[in-house]
Amino acid sequence: MFSRKRVIIFSGLILLTFLTLLFPPQTQGEDSRILFDSKGELLRVWLNKNEQYKFPKSEKISEKYKAAVLYFEDKRFYGHFGIDPIAVIRAIKQNVQAGRIESGASTITMQVARLKNPGKRTFFAKLREAHAALRMELWKSKDEIFAEYSSIVPMGGNIVGIETACWRFFGHGSEEITWAQAALLALLPNRPSALNLEKERELLLERRNNLLKSLAKAGYIGTEILNSALEEPLPKMNTNWRFKTPHYAESVSSLFQDQTILHGTIDGKVQERLERIAKNYGQKIREHSDVNISVLITETQTGKIRGYLGSLEYYDSLSKGMIDGVRAHRSTGSILKPFLYALAIERGPYTPESLIEDVPIWFRGFSPQNADKSHSGILPLKEALTRSLNIPAVKILSDYGVEDFHFWLKNAGLNGLFRTPEEYGLSLILGGGEASLQELVPLYSMLMNNGKRTELRWIEDSVSQKNEQLLQEVTAYHIREILTSVKRPDFEQYHLQFNNQIPVAWKTGTSYGSRDAWAIGVNEQWTIGVWVGNFKGGSVANLSGSSAAAPLLFSLFNNLSDNKKELWKKPLYSNYESIEICRLSGYKATNICPRKRNVALPINRMQNQTCSCHKEIIISKIYGFEVCSLCWNAEDTLHIVEEHYSPAVRSVLRKTGREPKAETLHNPHCSAKKEDVQFSIVYPENGARLFLPGSDALSNMGFVAIAAHKQRDAELQWFLNGAFLGSTKDEHKMAVTVGSGEYRIGVQDSLGIYLEAKFRVRAK
Ligand SMILES: [Zn+2]
Ligand SMILES: [Zn+2]
Repeated sequence: MFSRKRVIIFSGLILLTFLTLLFPPQTQGEDSRILFDSKGELLRVWLNKNEQYKFPKSEKISEKYKAAVLYFEDKRFYGHFGIDPIAVIRAIKQNVQAGRIESGASTITMQVARLKNPGKRTFFAKLREAHAALRMELWKSKDEIFAEYSSIVPMGGNIVGIETACWRFFGHGSEEITWAQAALLALLPNRPSALNLEKERELLLERRNNLLKSLAKAGYIGTEILNSALEEPLPKMNTNWRFKTPHYAESVSSLFQDQTILHGTIDGKVQERLERIAKNYGQKIREHSDVNISVLITETQTGKIRGYLGSLEYYDSLSKGMIDGVRAHRSTGSILKPFLYALAIERGPYTPESLIEDVPIWFRGFSPQNADKSHSGILPLKEALTRSLNIPAVKILSDYGVEDFHFWLKNAGLNGLFRTPEEYGLSLILGGGEASLQELVPLYSMLMNNGKRTELRWIEDSVSQKNEQLLQEVTAYHIREILTSVKRPDFEQYHLQFNNQIPVAWKTGTSYGSRDAWAIGVNEQWTIGVWVGNFKGGSVANLSGSSAAAPLLFSLFNNLSDNKKELWKKPLYSNYESIEICRLSGYKATNICPRKRNVALPINRMQNQTCSCHKEIIISKIYGFEVCSLCWNAEDTLHIVEEHYSPAVRSVLRKTGREPKAETLHNPHCSAKKEDVQFSIVYPENGARLFLPGSDALSNMGFVAIAAHKQRDAELQWFLNGAFLGSTKDEHKMAVTVGSGEYRIGVQDSLGIYLEAKFRVRAK
């Protein structure tokens, strides 16, 4: 007999059970993070905490899928209240006949309840499911319950929900589903562990077709559609779900950790072409060397990433394909030069036309060399940039200041510059610092965006970022024009490939020891950065920016630029100062400069040097000498304008057969110039004997010769046995390499005064 106490407890429990129906059920289940491209194509799904792929619940459910599922699982779904009495009675009958549980009589609602609270299929569990189903029916609409079912139904393996299954099996979303696909997806959850697409394909096909025929019989599908649906093959299955743009997906994931659904900026078409072209190209160059390729393509004006290739093959562990070369910091080679030149023009005194010396030079223990070890003597700044000469770049950096340039680069987003300006020194402009494609590409976009740095945009709905004005409009214009110039030695080999003739401002770079080859280009539509190198950090024979990276850069521009010539709009720069410059020297013209022109320069330049190339002198008409007040005959004078070059420039030009007209010598009988010697050779002193261990007739050893000058900024030129060695400024130290023997070291100042010291070298 029930005691009174037991009755109270039992009634209480029933009451409590009913009370729980009054509270809405909790939604459970962790969604995967998902990344789409800009057109809604799936790029990547991440495993959720339960190691499953699961798209979030969507209210939009395919009608085909719904029809197939309800026909197969729960025909009276819209009529029952969570429990289907007709099905229950039939199930009990069947189970009693069979003597064991064979049919569950589960409604969709009860299945949702079970999926959310999985456990053993006991009688008590059935009751609990029924209770949860009732509760759900009370609180949710039928469509909501079906949507929930669609999002949590297991589809085999770690695939959960219809949307996930559609992308996994068919490569598209559920809105594009066919009847055959809908029927297949309705069947899969039946026994997801056993009945899967990898095994039992024949059985699955048979059951799918039976369901399709039933659906046709029930009037859902017409005969024609049925016939084509029956012909549809089952989707092919490969074991791993391989996603597109793996490196890009990883970057986006780490940048936007709080977002579940990510709408990436990748353009599927651009990405497809990029991968095809880069992989073809990669195959060719990989025949010769073990290199990898990374490419970043952005829309110039918006900064949106449209193409992203971290490495040639993500899954190729042999070549370390997992490394993302777009984000890796690598030695910059010459790729930063355009920005130093821009700053030099902005601060002054340089203009794009300024003549700049390219002669052997010794900078406090550092002697830069051009890539081909040659010297040009003197040339316009713009040509020094297109030819990417090292000596002028180092000289400009020395004038501009390493610290200021370093500061500007850091501010422009180069986060790979970990060391101090002092540690980099002047080599900062020759690749001493490191940067990544993702940092460099926005810098180059800036040249096309009137000096505004364009932040990279990774996802479509990101708030537009701050685009800082880092260069004046007119400066960006000049650099862009220089980098667009077709008169450049490395262009010849590409202009044939580059048949669209769309102007592109571009620059290449090669790091020390041929480890990294860069090519970055920008036009109105695209900014493209290419890196070629070796992820293992080794050097690659014959690797250079122009031979390895530029061809790929131009193939990509060729292939991606649709609108041809209209793309290159003439720039509009509003703020500038028109300055009259000397056509020869490129500096501010004086009244003696014979030919002048106006050039638009940045405003507020700190330095505006005037032309020092043209000098006015007084000569004797009769003798042709230069004369001065100490030696002239007032009747016999003539004012002329002459071109003046430094001794070092003359020396280089002389060697290359391009020496300008000689400067007029001063009257040899004039007494004024005689005592003008303002410098001396400090080391080696005249008659010195040097002991250089290791030096003999065959092997040369080095030492540093030293001179001193009274004037701080004086320049001296050095000669060994009459051959030009180089020039020094400020600190007069010159590296000399000699074997054993007798030598003369000579030093000449800018007035042409020459001093010499004889010395002897012995090995011991
Ligand atoms: Zn001039
Ligand atoms: Zn004189």
